[in-house]
Amino acid sequence: MSDTSQKNQPILPGATLGVMGGGQLGRMFVHAAQRMGYFTAVLDPDVSSPAGRVSHHHVLADYLDAKGLAQLGAVADAITTEFENVPAPALVALARQRPVAPAASAVAIAQDRSQEKAHFVRCGVACAPYAVIDSAEALAAVDTNLLPGILKTSRMGYDGKGQVRVADRAALAAAWAQLRNVPCVLEKMLPLAAECSVIVARGRDGQIVNFPVQRNLHREGILAVTEVYEGNLPSAQSATAVEAAKSIANGLDYVGVLCVEFFLLADGALVVNEIAPRPHNSGHYTMDACDLSQFDLQVHTLAGLPLTTPRQHSPSIMLNLLGDLWFDANGVRAQAVTAATPPPWAEVLALPGVHLHLYGKLEAKPGRKMGHINVTGASIEAVRATALQACALLGLAPF
Ligand code: ATP
Ligand code: MG
Repeated sequence: MSDTSQKNQPILPGATLGVMGGGQLGRMFVHAAQRMGYFTAVLDPDVSSPAGRVSHHHVLADYLDAKGLAQLGAVADAITTEFENVPAPALVALARQRPVAPAASAVAIAQDRSQEKAHFVRCGVACAPYAVIDSAEALAAVDTNLLPGILKTSRMGYDGKGQVRVADRAALAAAWAQLRNVPCVLEKMLPLAAECSVIVARGRDGQIVNFPVQRNLHREGILAVTEVYEGNLPSAQSATAVEAAKSIANGLDYVGVLCVEFFLLADGALVVNEIAPRPHNSGHYTMDACDLSQFDLQVHTLAGLPLTTPRQHSPSIMLNLLGDLWFDANGVRAQAVTAATPPPWAEVLALPGVHLHLYGKLEAKPGRKMGHINVTGASIEAVRATALQACALLGLAPF
């Protein structure tokens, strides 16, 4: 068999699939892979990482540790990543040994907001007006039309971290100093009518499929609620979002699961916000509301298996469960995660169509993603009524 034909052969169940990172996304990938009969390997330095604890192999090493990477490459037949801040050199090193998807080059673009935005521009997809702030000169030259705006670090931001809202030039200068003058982008503050995201899965052969468009509600920069049902967003904008997500993935020659986040503006315009080179929190509803989940498709793309368009069989609402649930109103830690009096899961699970997912994290912290609930049902009205009941039981704000 020639090298090319071998390369195009799918990696079948019984082989071992590896993932860089042991967080909840890695854990759900591991679960999906194991259900299909794969063995799994996780590289993560934390002995109690959510994915490491459920994987067949757990390489306990830092992401740039050459020995650890060699160990992962030795045990895994193909390797993916579960967080975008995995160092690109680690993926490059692994790719010398094994197929790696997504490629380091695509992950590197998603890691850097200014490169990411340049890619949107290349693909002809509109994003928020912005300026790169990487020098005192660039700061001084900022167009005041971008204010008020949000200053975001180019690298390493997540869940609204590394972002400062700025009203004027003085605030902008202060914010850049507060962010230690690291390279940033300043984005114009846009009037958001809604936020949404699209998850696509693209194979080695360029075949691409998508999930329905998700409508997302953020609180304090963190995703709180995702609603997916027929009519959750105007159909013209939904169609535009799907086409934009596909052209962004095609433009990266992307292999794997990619999430593209968008803003829907008050005037009906759709602009892209950012991409995540992996399954995404806003796609967790797919685990219970679709015939294939985003993690199933991550397995398919990594293994080179065929892709079929996933079908949503139930309207769904996803509620994020943050560590705040384990604290009382004064911010005092109310219960340990393992204590006898956790949040009222039994009452929540008495509601119809509730699917509880907890990530097995040993410590709750405010804002930390501990789990999520997917609600499914026969109609969006029924799903919403149940989700609101769950919110009331858990002390989550209604939406
Ligand atoms: P994630 O967890 O999605 O990676 P992040 O830290 O990368 O988050 P962004 O997605 O850039 O952050 O922004 C977080 C939230 O802040 C957005 O979902 C949106 O609600 C708000 N936001 C960000 N940029 C803008 C903007 N230009 N105009 C208005 N609101 C914005
Ligand atoms: Mg975001």
